[in-house]
Amino acid sequence: MIEKQCPICGRPDCDIKIVPVQTNHGHEQPVICFHGDCLCCGLVYINRSLVFDNLETGQISKQEFLGYLRQHSLIREHTGSKTIKIVQTIDDLREGFFLPSTPFDQVYMLIEYIASKQPSLSEFVRFDASKDYPICFAKNESDFCFIIKSAYELGYIKGRGKNDDPIMDNGGKLHLTDELLMLTMKGWEKEQELKEQSPYSNQVFVAFHFDTGGTMKQIYDTAIAPAVSECGLIPYVTLDDEHGNSITDVIIAGIRKSRFVIADVTDASQNVYYEAGFAYGLGIPVILTCREDRTEEDMKFDTSHIKHILWKDEADLKQRLINRIEAMGLSKKI
Ligand SMILES: [Zn+2]
Repeated sequence: MIEKQCPICGRPDCDIKIVPVQTNHGHEQPVICFHGDCLCCGLVYINRSLVFDNLETGQISKQEFLGYLRQHSLIREHTGSKTIKIVQTIDDLREGFFLPSTPFDQVYMLIEYIASKQPSLSEFVRFDASKDYPICFAKNESDFCFIIKSAYELGYIKGRGKNDDPIMDNGGKLHLTDELLMLTMKGWEKEQELKEQSPYSNQVFVAFHFDTGGTMKQIYDTAIAPAVSECGLIPYVTLDDEHGNSITDVIIAGIRKSRFVIADVTDASQNVYYEAGFAYGLGIPVILTCREDRTEEDMKFDTSHIKHILWKDEADLKQRLINRIEAMGLSKKI
């Protein structure tokens, strides 16, 4: 059965099927999913009841819902990932993506998007406001045009129209002048600045117990650091023993500036837990990892309810970290 009208955003020209999907190796009833392409939502593969239970009851706004869905597609475009995971829960939908809280954040998301799509300094990126508004969590086409206009007025982008103004006001309604946008030098400068800030930062804060035997340091060198690098990011390490039991300003600043935190709790000291907790408090995504045979002893401070990566060896940890970083939409690999 094909729905021509997108059940999520309401666009009339999409191609979304309702399909039963067998999960959990056939032990449970199949879940009914929406699956297909929508020009606005992107590639959709989502549990139908998640849409009904949350969107239609107003648990989450349509603006947020579409924004998150589109982020999933953007990440797949960035990484070239072929695997499509079913969005089953609201946490799957949010998946560590950054939710803009101010119009400035939305302008910055637009800058990041254009920077990632612009083929060269002098080439434009094509936009269609009627389908691209979820890119920066805009509420609708008109709000998206307002964000574009603001980015232009702040000097970050330009169009190809008269005076480079990408937006025209048509009787109180905003429209794209000719659908083409590019970053200005000021825009590229801002993009560079954003890269250095969480959540736009390229830095990943890594917390682990720097043991005297050196096992964890070796794990860091052969598994964690290469996984972070392969995702186009830069690891930032804190050696907890170096600072004794204190959490220094250097550590706090390091966490604040990071895109996310990887905390390995194998044989960990209190500092590793503190650093992970501090990041959680700031809303910075945290990936917790632990060696499989150490989970009983090391998953203390009641973090056992949080999904840890339980790893066997270095190769296992490296691959699963890459998978998790990509699944959370945190990779910068293009
Ligand atoms: Zn849609």
